[in-house]
Amino acid sequence: MLEILNPFTNKPIKSLATDNLESIQKKFASAKIAQKSWSQVPFQNRLEIIKKFREIVSLNKESLALTLTEEVGKPLSQSLNELNGLLTRIDFFIENSGKVLEPRQVFQDSNMTEQIQFEPLGVIANISAWNYPYFVGSNVFIPALLMGNSVLYKPSEYATLTGLAIEKMLTEAGLPNGVFTALVGRGAIGALLLEQKVNGVFFTGSYATGKKIAESVAGRMIKVQLELGGKDPAYVCEDANIQSAAESLADGAMYNAGQSCCSVERIYVHEKIYDAFVEAFVKVVKGFKIGDPKEKDTYIGPITRREHLAFLTHQTDNATKKGAKLLVGGHPIQGKPGFFEPTVLSNVNHTMEVMTEESFGPIIGIQKVTSDTEAISMMNDTKYGLTAGVYTPDSERAQKILKEINSGSVYWNCCDRVSPRLPWTGRGHSGIGSTLSTFGIETFLQPKAWHLRK
Ligand code: NAD
Repeated sequence: MLEILNPFTNKPIKSLATDNLESIQKKFASAKIAQKSWSQVPFQNRLEIIKKFREIVSLNKESLALTLTEEVGKPLSQSLNELNGLLTRIDFFIENSGKVLEPRQVFQDSNMTEQIQFEPLGVIANISAWNYPYFVGSNVFIPALLMGNSVLYKPSEYATLTGLAIEKMLTEAGLPNGVFTALVGRGAIGALLLEQKVNGVFFTGSYATGKKIAESVAGRMIKVQLELGGKDPAYVCEDANIQSAAESLADGAMYNAGQSCCSVERIYVHEKIYDAFVEAFVKVVKGFKIGDPKEKDTYIGPITRREHLAFLTHQTDNATKKGAKLLVGGHPIQGKPGFFEPTVLSNVNHTMEVMTEESFGPIIGIQKVTSDTEAISMMNDTKYGLTAGVYTPDSERAQKILKEINSGSVYWNCCDRVSPRLPWTGRGHSGIGSTLSTFGIETFLQPKAWHLRK
């Protein structure tokens, strides 16, 4: 059984029977059969089903947001933002998928035609994280379905009610049986899913699990795409607007209690404005409302997995023992079980875990640098490579710095931002492959080269 706990009240919401090897084998067998006929359904009809799904999500977004808040502890306003963001992503896929599928004639002469046609991969295993289940799930299953694949969806054990709600809405929208099926359970169920003869694995989660998954399917020569963690940096130049950089970066670090893959996890500030920036940043952080995630104006809710509180305490202690200065926070909140106080550390350096290992919580280290060169070298001193940002009014300077940064996304005067029009892609331990943009549609297809002689 899987017990779903509310991270705010710590009370059970529901107990669900988990899948097992036999049920997974059955689900895989139906997904395989269903995929054959689904791929023959004209694209326009597949599109109509996704449009209907969008309509159902839109009509129910308040209650879906509430379920998400109850199971992961995300503040209600942020759950609603996620649902609204989902609608925008679906719109992008609706508008752009058709043209990706179109065959391309790349050569023709009097007796030879060369053409590229696209075919779906087949049955996709979509294993997902809990922190943005609508985003990370839909980045995969919407384009995968539109391209004619079937999907076996293993939501995180911390976001299973949302996963089951997605399955129900897709069925209501008219998706034939077996084309999208959710699996209930923890990591072991994900591992059993991967033992089936799936044709592609699309995973979102931690580097540690991503590595295990990549190793477990390595010999099978199937497509593996991994969207993993980050240790995302930002650099504030001495000519930046201190107040607006502080507001933007505090939001980037603390939104969803820092539990975002692209949360700002480390900040470098030019020495000329270091003290002023740190002061402004701490002030913004102290203003965040912490509390019941169902209350309208709550900004920081509980940490989703209670066992993570000990890790956050460890990271703070590791930094302070090595000389970091604790400016605010640093421990679980007394009298508020499940909460970790937003934490700001100054005088940090790269011998401290808080500057090198993903925190995935409301903790930030702010390090002083003396030049752009030093900032670039610090930002690139990481195993990860998801996003990075720079704050300066000088666009040439920003471009020069960002070109040197080894990460999938770069930001000028903004952070913690994802656009459906741009590829979402990590480097190094942040993953392999892209979702979103047209790259994130093509990835669910395999090209076939047609050589046609008259
Ligand atoms: P996780 O790695 O613990 O779990 C992710 C999923 O993998 C869950 O569904 C889990 O049940 C499953 N799983 C665990 N062990 C497995 C195994 N051996 N075989 C198959 N499946 C297995 O990650 P999480 O705690 O759910 O998510 C947090 C992590 O995800 C963070 O590192 C975060 O940065 C990352 N993340 C990345 C992105 C991105 O787009 N790059 C987006 C969201 C989250």
